[in-house]
Amino acid sequence: MERLSTHISTGGLARGTALLYPDAPAESFSESSESPLETFRSALSASSREIEGTVAEGTLSEILSAHLEMLSDPLLTETVEADIRKGMGAREAVEAASEEISSMFDAIDDEYLRSRKDDVRDVCRRIIRNMASPAAASSSDPEQDVIVVAAELFPSDTVRMDFSRVRGFVLEKGSVTSHVAILARGYGIPALFGIPVGNIHDGDRLLVDGNSGELIINPDAGTESHFSEKLTSFSPFPEAGEEGECPVKVYANAGSIAEVRKAMENGADGVGLFRSEFLYMKGNALPTEDVQYETYAEAARLCGEKPLTIRTLDIGGDKALPYLELPREDNPFLGFRAIRISLARPELFRPQIRAILRSSAHGRIRILLPMITRVEEVLKAKEIISLCMKELDGEHLPYDPEVEIGVMVETPASVLIAEELAKEVDFFSVGTNDLTQYVMVADRGNSSVASYYDVTDPAVMRALSIIANAAAKEHIPVGICGEAASDAALQPDLLRMGFTSLSVPCSMVSQTRRNLMTIKI
Ligand code: PEP
Ligand code: MG
Repeated sequence: MERLSTHISTGGLARGTALLYPDAPAESFSESSESPLETFRSALSASSREIEGTVAEGTLSEILSAHLEMLSDPLLTETVEADIRKGMGAREAVEAASEEISSMFDAIDDEYLRSRKDDVRDVCRRIIRNMASPAAASSSDPEQDVIVVAAELFPSDTVRMDFSRVRGFVLEKGSVTSHVAILARGYGIPALFGIPVGNIHDGDRLLVDGNSGELIINPDAGTESHFSEKLTSFSPFPEAGEEGECPVKVYANAGSIAEVRKAMENGADGVGLFRSEFLYMKGNALPTEDVQYETYAEAARLCGEKPLTIRTLDIGGDKALPYLELPREDNPFLGFRAIRISLARPELFRPQIRAILRSSAHGRIRILLPMITRVEEVLKAKEIISLCMKELDGEHLPYDPEVEIGVMVETPASVLIAEELAKEVDFFSVGTNDLTQYVMVADRGNSSVASYYDVTDPAVMRALSIIANAAAKEHIPVGICGEAASDAALQPDLLRMGFTSLSVPCSMVSQTRRNLMTIKI
């Protein structure tokens, strides 16, 4: 029996037989009687057919489309064929091209493009695998409960695996944000990274504890039975709604009543962002207070006890309201937007606040103020909210006097004054969509600067950490409602930073909850 441990793992427990995933092993490789050029070309076609026949979704499908393009890229095919003409064997030529092309990527400054080098290596491995006899290629398919052990795994390796048999991964390379980690979380199975795999042999008995990061090789009877007990009480996908299982609240973003309904059907803990703009955009004139009240009240009733976070009007930037005739601006994203309009035009803001307050009699409403850059804006908005409350008192209209008030943290200014803001509000919600564009100075809709628009850039990640720390210091909840919230690869980092809720598109609620439940913080 041997124990190895790592601090890089995704949660879960698994038991099975080691299956060493071969790195295009020499023993399974037999060049056929075809000429090397024919061998290469038929492996190329087989690889294309294989990818075309693979059903994949999301990021994986994007990766595979890129791989398909690479298979017909002359940079690859001509480099290999030139080497074969010089006398190299088919496999040797593909290996050489893989080295040569991937080393070109090392010289690229852009981190994202540089990381594409793994795709080149992955595509070349696939071609080499398809040069082996079909029997050899499929002999590695697992036939019993297995733990896949490999130095490194690529997407094209995992798409070929039979997940009715794979119970876990033990890998030398990779991280909790890698493709394998995301896949493992999706299947509710553990993955350990950073484990030296040289001493593990095909057929070894393995116990994998992704929660503690421990691997036990060939356990003795006592250890095995202790592990069996843990395994019996372990559930990879606890029932949605089970108290204390999910580390943070999973809210939904909604832009209409239909979406609020869907959010509730999908088991969201509430609505983390109700974009009120849709009400303003669907007509040719401002919606009246009563029209707004009816909509918000209906949404509140649908949410019942769960919070409904209504964001006050966020127009300007790329969202125009033709009937409002706002002045034309050279830089709309840096212009008259959101809270700036609301505070400058009380005839717009007050009916909305009154409508929101009135709807708070029907549920648990939270008011969210967008595009805040100064504490004074919050103080002024709170003053208007108090004023509206007094008016409603005078009119004997019911509302919740404890209604929570929060701010969107989505500008660099609000990050820098997060501690001061946290003293004035009940909660923070981070708009990573805008925050990324303002921190990175990259218009979120401009594809020529898309490489700068990266929420994982160290600058944005540091901003997120500053926000989370400021909220923790003042003991207020801090959520994320931008697209980053539904990025499974980012969620472990967001949890570690201390975010207390994630608000995701309605369709992503269950998937997000499942992912979160398997993350080890
Ligand atoms: C954001 O900026 O991240 C956000 C949630 O708001 P919107 O996308 O509506 O600007
Ligand atoms: Mg925004």
